[in-house]
Amino acid sequence: MDQDIIIVGSALYLFLVASLAKLGSKRDIGGKKSFLYSFCLTPVVGFIIVFSSPKKDILHIVHYKCSRCGLEFTDYHRNCPSCRKEGVNVRLSRKSMHTY
Ligand SMILES: [Zn+2]
Repeated sequence: MDQDIIIVGSALYLFLVASLAKLGSKRDIGGKKSFLYSFCLTPVVGFIIVFSSPKKDILHIVHYKCSRCGLEFTDYHRNCPSCRKEGVNVRLSRKSMHTY
């Protein structure tokens, strides 16, 4: 009877640790650290650590910037639409960046 509780408890413990490691891999802290913290300091502490860690949202954004007026576009334009209204054709330069 007592053994069952230990087995179920351990399984639950490991399940929580694994879940937190998975969540942590999507955050700044990373999966390995999340796993270690959750495993060594109990999943309760691990949960707090993982959720206080900022989310890792890596977005690859491509911008097209006009060197004349400084406007940035997220869509591709061969020439700057703003400058084009003034009768000037300005090629947009491609800029890619990562944001977190
Ligand atoms: Zn422009």
